[in-house]
Amino acid sequence: MGTSSSLDHALFSRGERLILDNCRLLDGLQPIVEKAAVVVHEGKIAYAGSARDLPEKLRAGGTAVDLTGLLVMPGLIDCHAHLVYNGFRNLEEVNRCSIEIATLNGMLNAQKVIAAGYTTIRDVGTIGNVAVTLRDAIAEKRIPGPRIVASGQVICSTAGVGDTLPPHWSASHGFGSMVDGPIEMRKEIRRQIRNGVDNIKLAASGVEVGPYAYTWMTTFSQEEVTVAIEEAHRWGRSVAVHAQSYDSVKFSLRAGADTVEHGTRLDEESIRMFKETTSILVPTLCTLYSVLELGAKLNLMRKHREEMAVNEPLWLKSTKMAHDAGIPIAAGGDLGNRYPHGTNARELEFLVRAGLQPLEAIRAATSVAALAIKRQETIGTLKPDKVADLLIVDGDPLRDIAVLQDQSRLVAVVQAGELAAGRLAQREPAARAAMPGVSRDSAAAARVT
Ligand SMILES: [Zn+2]
Repeated sequence: MGTSSSLDHALFSRGERLILDNCRLLDGLQPIVEKAAVVVHEGKIAYAGSARDLPEKLRAGGTAVDLTGLLVMPGLIDCHAHLVYNGFRNLEEVNRCSIEIATLNGMLNAQKVIAAGYTTIRDVGTIGNVAVTLRDAIAEKRIPGPRIVASGQVICSTAGVGDTLPPHWSASHGFGSMVDGPIEMRKEIRRQIRNGVDNIKLAASGVEVGPYAYTWMTTFSQEEVTVAIEEAHRWGRSVAVHAQSYDSVKFSLRAGADTVEHGTRLDEESIRMFKETTSILVPTLCTLYSVLELGAKLNLMRKHREEMAVNEPLWLKSTKMAHDAGIPIAAGGDLGNRYPHGTNARELEFLVRAGLQPLEAIRAATSVAALAIKRQETIGTLKPDKVADLLIVDGDPLRDIAVLQDQSRLVAVVQAGELAAGRLAQREPAARAAMPGVSRDSAAAARVT
């Protein structure tokens, strides 16, 4: 049996069997299992369950680390991210950002997101083709960051979400790609597929933060939405639809959207339609609360703040109706412009405030999130053969969901079996060496058994 004094980089990258022993296990589905063990081998989960039931053949020959008092859960997933967002006050500012700056922003933001315990995100709208570039650079380990399910530019109509610059400007590489009618729609989707996207992001309604279209307006026709989803699905791509108006939600559900983003306006009919599909709702309550909280301080545009005031009761009612009806809800923060990247776990606090139980909020950012982004076969739960994306927490998120926002409580972020971030990961190697296993914090005190 190997030895180690703490949870360090070497331990997670050694390639031998690592036994996280005597931990509290939150597997992404069930309530906490006390006195559990999680076994990581070659980047995957070999076992997760009661320590007592760990088969001897998995225990023998592995390196065991005692995690008494610490909780092991799946790495978190944010289903609605825009890594290029960087303190922009409206969508015109987003469109004015160059691809070069957007790429730098995305690289830096990706590091903040992984440090916050998010091992996977779905990027649902970028500048140029930056999300695909970041996805590949992170997968090749050229830069740190979460695993990315990448979209291209947001596909919207003329005067829709991404259409923000004066008409005589050319913004073909901006945040929005404006298409009108089924022929342009098919062509744009095929162009994005050529660019390597995993997901298509459609904007079927207006948005608070754009100049022309309001959230209650439906900016694509049923025909356009249906064609888009049919085309994307035929190529094996998922579709996320920005839908804040009543009709845009129904158009999306009727056409088989994989996820409905925001869902600001839901009524009885859309709830009924939701229940007949496998679509998942991503309410992005941070989009709402960040404007309510910071709108005045950041001097956001008047339309933005006024629409949010109108939308607040509708949005909360819609989220509650969906939750009460048992519609699957996944977590997505839509962060980067008001709440900064790395505060993604605020969304879980808001989901709890909207009526979800803490365990449901955890599922929204793990197992249900994996389903929403079509990665349920590999991530989102701690089950044998899943990728070993783990979050080791000094605290109990079922008692206090906000503990996940406190990075000093995130002991380690493990991505595919390797230490990606965490308190220990952030320490200088020399500092670690100088304090071999002797520390007040429970992680460093983790000891070999
Ligand atoms: Zn968004």
